[in-house]
Amino acid sequence: MNIILLGPPGAGKGTQAQRLQAEKGMVQLSTGDMLRAAVASGSELGKKAKDIMEKGELVPDSLMVGLIQDRIAQPDAAKGFILDGFPRTEAQAKALDEMLGKAGKKLDRVVEMEVDEKALTERIVGRFTCAKCGTGYHEKFKRPKVDGVCDVCGSKEFTRRKDDNAETMKTRMAAYRAQTEPLLPYYGARGVLRKVDGMAAMDEVYRQISGILSGA
Ligand code: ADP
Ligand code: ADP
Ligand code: ZN
Repeated sequence: MNIILLGPPGAGKGTQAQRLQAEKGMVQLSTGDMLRAAVASGSELGKKAKDIMEKGELVPDSLMVGLIQDRIAQPDAAKGFILDGFPRTEAQAKALDEMLGKAGKKLDRVVEMEVDEKALTERIVGRFTCAKCGTGYHEKFKRPKVDGVCDVCGSKEFTRRKDDNAETMKTRMAAYRAQTEPLLPYYGARGVLRKVDGMAAMDEVYRQISGILSGA
């Protein structure tokens, strides 16, 4: 199965994609993670993306399409992939259709995660991530089992994203509304769109997505 998780910043896309990857053997393709790795490595792409990401704006489509095209072509993506953070514009969605068509692959489901704007800001400002394995946490909603120690890899180092603040969140939300929300009718018209209640607890959201993947 190949799916897209679609939702505003902080909706829970990364959280659910990590769990789907761990439990269902699909691969998480997070364009945000790929871009942050590019920024950290100082690559050409990273240099172009850094300031744009810090402002909360979208990285140009041409760069994003090249990035995801290379990733989808890698052998592990044949197990089924979860797109987390891509596509974010209509041009990206069209480019995705084209690349999947050429590769003989298909998009099975687009899962919309609906969350109130107030809850999104609370999620974003409390978010932190294991610096070693990338597991996501939250100060209030998903603390490590032992304070200061990653549940998955035992690391004691965590990071916070520069763009995870209330100010940048406004720009990110505006980009979502103007450029990404129009993808809902785009996929709705194709019959692949399904909704989950992103306000529910993480386990419940996971249960709803699993139901969609098994055909419910
Ligand atoms: P996204 O990838 O859509 O930006 P994340 O999965 O990183 O979102 O989630 C944002 C933050 O909210 C993280 O700190 C995560 O632990 C927390 N979170 C995710 N899903 C839920 C949920 N259903 N209820 C409460 N907090 C959540
Ligand atoms: P979130 O999980 O909070 O929605 P991401 O980690 O997906 O955020 O993305 C962080 C930033 O990376 C975005 O604000 C944007 O600048 C850039 N980015 C990620 N994916 C894309 C994309 N598909 N198109 C354009 N910019 C992107
Ligand atoms: Zn870890």
